[in-house]
Amino acid sequence: MGKKVTIALAGNPNAGKSSIFNNLTRSRQHVGNYPGVTVEKMEGSLKYGQYDINVVDLPGTYSLTAHSLDELVARNFVIEEKPDVVIDIIDASNLERNLYLATQFIELGVPLVLAFNMTDIADEGGFIIDKNRLSELLGTPIVFTVATKKKGMDELLDQAIALFEGKTKLQGTVVRYGKEIQEEILKLESVAIKDPSIVQKYPSRWLATKLLEGDSEVIKQLEHSPHYEEIISQAKKSTQHLEAIFGDKPEAIIAERRYGFISGACSEAVQRTYEIRHSASDEIDKVLVNRILGLPIFLGLVWAMFKLTFTLSQPLMSGIELLIQRLSLIFSALLPQGSVIQSLVVNGIIAGVGSVLVFAPVIFLLFLALAALEDSGYMARAAFIMDRLMHKIGLHGRSFIPMLLGFACNLPAIMATRTIDDRRDRLVTILINPFMSCGARLPVYALFIGAFFPARMAGTALFSLYLLGITVAIIMAKVFRKYLFKGEAAPFVMELPPYRMPTFKGLLIHMWERGAVYLKKAGTVIFAGSILIWALSNLPWNVEYSKDYDFMLKKAQQNQELIMQLENEKASEKLEKSYVASVGRVLAPAFKPLGFGDWRIATALVGGFVAKEIVVAMLGTLYSSSEAEQKSASLRLALQKQSRPDGKKMFTPLVAYSFMAFVLLYIPCMATIAVIKHETNSWVWPAFAAFYTTAVAWIVSFIIYQGGKLLGLG
Ligand code: GDP
Ligand code: MG
Repeated sequence: MGKKVTIALAGNPNAGKSSIFNNLTRSRQHVGNYPGVTVEKMEGSLKYGQYDINVVDLPGTYSLTAHSLDELVARNFVIEEKPDVVIDIIDASNLERNLYLATQFIELGVPLVLAFNMTDIADEGGFIIDKNRLSELLGTPIVFTVATKKKGMDELLDQAIALFEGKTKLQGTVVRYGKEIQEEILKLESVAIKDPSIVQKYPSRWLATKLLEGDSEVIKQLEHSPHYEEIISQAKKSTQHLEAIFGDKPEAIIAERRYGFISGACSEAVQRTYEIRHSASDEIDKVLVNRILGLPIFLGLVWAMFKLTFTLSQPLMSGIELLIQRLSLIFSALLPQGSVIQSLVVNGIIAGVGSVLVFAPVIFLLFLALAALEDSGYMARAAFIMDRLMHKIGLHGRSFIPMLLGFACNLPAIMATRTIDDRRDRLVTILINPFMSCGARLPVYALFIGAFFPARMAGTALFSLYLLGITVAIIMAKVFRKYLFKGEAAPFVMELPPYRMPTFKGLLIHMWERGAVYLKKAGTVIFAGSILIWALSNLPWNVEYSKDYDFMLKKAQQNQELIMQLENEKASEKLEKSYVASVGRVLAPAFKPLGFGDWRIATALVGGFVAKEIVVAMLGTLYSSSEAEQKSASLRLALQKQSRPDGKKMFTPLVAYSFMAFVLLYIPCMATIAVIKHETNSWVWPAFAAFYTTAVAWIVSFIIYQGGKLLGLG
């Protein structure tokens, strides 16, 4: 009688398990059942040298979770029957996917041999596998086989025997899950090892991992342990902790890390068919990353991206505007005329949230374009192209796209910083992003440039404001680098993934992931902010008017012009007596050194925190009291006519410019602050951003106004 050895064959479906089983056991096979379940159990036997080998063909599986019966059967057989050797049969032409199962056997600590089957197909596909290197990385022996040609069968058995006899030592290399997960695994292990009967059955690390994955079967098995409660409560704590950190189930993160490990190992030990794709990529890169052509092509693509985004979003935006108008009409009609609730819903909530929702098409389309650039593999090149330039200002190549997006809207821009790995690089990019002049500032510029600059200078004035924002951003980036986030920007690691045709579904998913955050912001923070600013500008509700407007309005009867004028006057007087005006009056002296110490301007600036274009709307209400309409033409005239108590004109071109600079630079809008909170996961950075940008704005406007006065400009 020879030595008895049990070998279990495992593997993904279609990897060639049955073929190898047949090769090994020929005709000496029989079919049974796994205890308690209806899954067939194929067994066979063979004599090999002095060994009597019993071979079990496990169900084909991709993984070893508790989610499917097959997986559970395979797993339980390995854990409970403890076969002497497990041979995991791997389709070598589909290595990364097949190795996923292998990582789980490695973690389970079973005596493992990997049969890389279908090496004939792998060869044809141009895979070159460095067997020794990969074997080292995975910590298990590897045998190349071609089951259909019976190649490698003896070597497979030799390796299995060597393992059985203890001649091969397994390294037990495991996937590294990163600090956070590792910490929780350790915590769980230290609780689990209190019960020796558990540890005897399961490797403690594997058990801990399974608990983090929420494996129902493992939890069921632990029910009889005296430490059950303790283990489960620790598992819950750890899971919640990890969920809070990663924003995803630990199960998903763990799977991700396993794939990451596999992909890392393969990129070291396997040259793959992507070499073929790579060389195609190389050809494309000769043009796209070309020293001379690279930059213009990149800028051209970006221009096209913006152009396309804005063209396509126009009709959608009009549609949403129309919808909001309808909604506002419906609610006006539904709610009692002239009541607080009507004003709150229509002027507060619908108008506030609506003004931000209108931007949704632009933002979604920008995200779509961005996803296309990313998924195709071009973005990595763009970062590379821009890196030298960006490094000069202490930033990373990847910071460029967020800065650029800032000109459209700071929200998607700040969210796009996620591609920056280094935390300091990312924070600097987030903090200076609000200086990129977004679309919402444009109405303010349009109004003031139109009112105080001659047409021939309008373009220059506008351009200079954008330039001012960029300059301040660069200076602040340097300051942050020097004092707050010391050290150079992370060196650029050239990683050029092969070009790939993005899938439509992938693009939509990526667009939605980011767009949803924006919608959520509009739904929550902006909702709350809209109510706040409405309350500030509408309360106290009952004000004593200087005239009996209601009576006059009644008398005005059909005279539309008069009605409008009266209504405007009334609105203006109401705003004058509101809380926001009180805040404005308190703040106004602080703006005096900047040239615009008027309380109405201060009031509008407070309103601008909700969204910067609101500055224009509020100025409209506050200044155009005597005008029939609040259209910008009349507001322009009204602004030009305003005079200070000393009789001089309130606005000169210098004051106007100082004011525009302030609007550009001061506190980012509420939504931006909310996104900074979301992206940095802390209140420190949004608070800091709100404070320092306002300080910078004050200083810059001070320099502009006082400097201008010294130069005799105003
Ligand atoms: P199982 O699902 O893991 O049991 O896989 P099978 O043994 O049934 O094999 C699936 C298919 O792959 C069958 O058509 C086999 O003939 C084929 N096959 C198995 N091993 C090899 C191999 O090494 N090379 C090639 N070219 N085909 C193989
Ligand atoms: Mg089969």
